[in-house]
Amino acid sequence: MRTLNVELGDRSYPIRIGAGLLSDRAQFAELENRKIKIVTDANAGRRYLPTLLYTLALTPEDVLVLPAGETQKTWTSAEKILDWLLASNFGRDGVLIALGGGVIGDMAGFCAALYQRGIDFVQVPTTLLSQVDSSVGGKTAVNHPRGKNMIGAFHQPKSVIADINTLKTLPPRELASGLAEVIKYGMLADAEFLKWIEQNLDKMLALDAEALTKAIYRSCELKARIVAQDERESGPRALLNLGHTFGHAIETFTGYSEWLHGEAVAVGLCMAADMSTQMGWLSVDDALRCTSLIQRAGLPTRPPVGMTPEDFLELMGHDKKVAAGKVRLVLLRKLGVSVLSADFDEKALLATLKHFT
Ligand code: NAD
Ligand code: ZN
Repeated sequence: MRTLNVELGDRSYPIRIGAGLLSDRAQFAELENRKIKIVTDANAGRRYLPTLLYTLALTPEDVLVLPAGETQKTWTSAEKILDWLLASNFGRDGVLIALGGGVIGDMAGFCAALYQRGIDFVQVPTTLLSQVDSSVGGKTAVNHPRGKNMIGAFHQPKSVIADINTLKTLPPRELASGLAEVIKYGMLADAEFLKWIEQNLDKMLALDAEALTKAIYRSCELKARIVAQDERESGPRALLNLGHTFGHAIETFTGYSEWLHGEAVAVGLCMAADMSTQMGWLSVDDALRCTSLIQRAGLPTRPPVGMTPEDFLELMGHDKKVAAGKVRLVLLRKLGVSVLSADFDEKALLATLKHFT
C-alpha cells in the first residue's frame, strides 16, 4: 500500500493505493463517527458494495445505486442524489462516498459540492481511468446536452481510496483506456516513467499489484503536481490535455458511443507525437516508441476510417481548449517535456492530419 499526499494551497488529502483496501477499515479512518452515504452505479455496486458495506458497517438504506454509463452523468441524476440526501435528512457533517468510475466520482463530487453549500466526500475509484485521472484535481461535473462537463464545480475530496483489486473485473478495453492516460503522463512530464511503462506494460496488463500501484502512484503524483500549480485551469493544467484535442475530435466524430475516451486519447497521443516531429522537436524514433507502446497496450493508433483532415479541423475548432478562435495544441519538445502552443506551424498540423487519415 502506498499513500500520496496531494497538497493544494492550504489543504491536502491522501490518496491511498493498494490491493484489498476496500475491506480494510483503517483506510477509512477519516470517516470514524461520521454519518456516511454511498453513491454507486449498477456495475461497481454489484461487485464491491457488499464488501464496502461490511467494512463500514452500513446497510443498503445508506446507498443510492444509479444506472451505469456516461449517458447517466446528467443534471437529472444529480437531482436524484440531492433529493435522496434531503429525504434522508443527511446533515452537513455527513460524508458522501463515490464508489465507481469517473462518472460516479464526477457526479457524486458535484452533488457534494452543492449539497447544503458543500459537504465532505471520499472517492473510491474502481476503474483505472478514475484511479489515475478523475479522482485527482477536484474537478466535478455533470454533462449538458450542449456539452460534456458543462455544469460543474471545483470540490476536493477528503481522501481517495484506490483498491487495485477492483481492476480485476474491469473489461479489458476499460483497462487499456486507463493505460492511455498513464502513458500520457509519461509522455508529457516524465521520460523515465515512460521508460518504466515500456518495461512494465505486460505486468500491468496482467494486473500485477506492484506494477499497478507504482503506475497509479506516479500518475497521480504527476497530475497533482501540475494541478497544484494551476488549480483553476488557467495555464499549466492545460498540458494534461496532451492528445486530447485530437481525441475529442474523434469522440465527437464517432458520437461518444463506439470509442472509449482513452481510445480516442491514444490516437491523439500518436498524432501529437507525430506533429511534434513535424515541428522538428521530437525525434522520429521517439514518436515511434510512443506509438508502439500504445499499440502494445491494446489501444488504437489511427483515427476511425472515413475521418478526413477537414473533419478534424472542423471538430478541433469546437474544442474547449480553443483560445480566441485559435486552436491551442499541447506538443512535445522532447519526451517528458510538453508545451502548450498556439503559434505552431499550420503546415505541421496539416501534414499530421494527412499522415493519419
Ligand atoms: P465510467 O465511470 O463510466 O466506468 C466505465 C464502465 O466501467 C462503466 O460501465 C462502469 O459501470 C464500469 N465499472 C466501474 N468500475 C468497474 C469495475 N471495477 N469492474 C467492472 N466494471 C466497472 O467511466 P470512467 O472511464 O471511469 O470515467 C469516465 C468519466 O470520468 C467521464 O465522465 C469523464 O468526463 C470523467 N473524467 C473526469 C476527470 C476529472 O478531472 N474530474 C478526468 C478524467 C475523466
Ligand atoms: Zn482524458
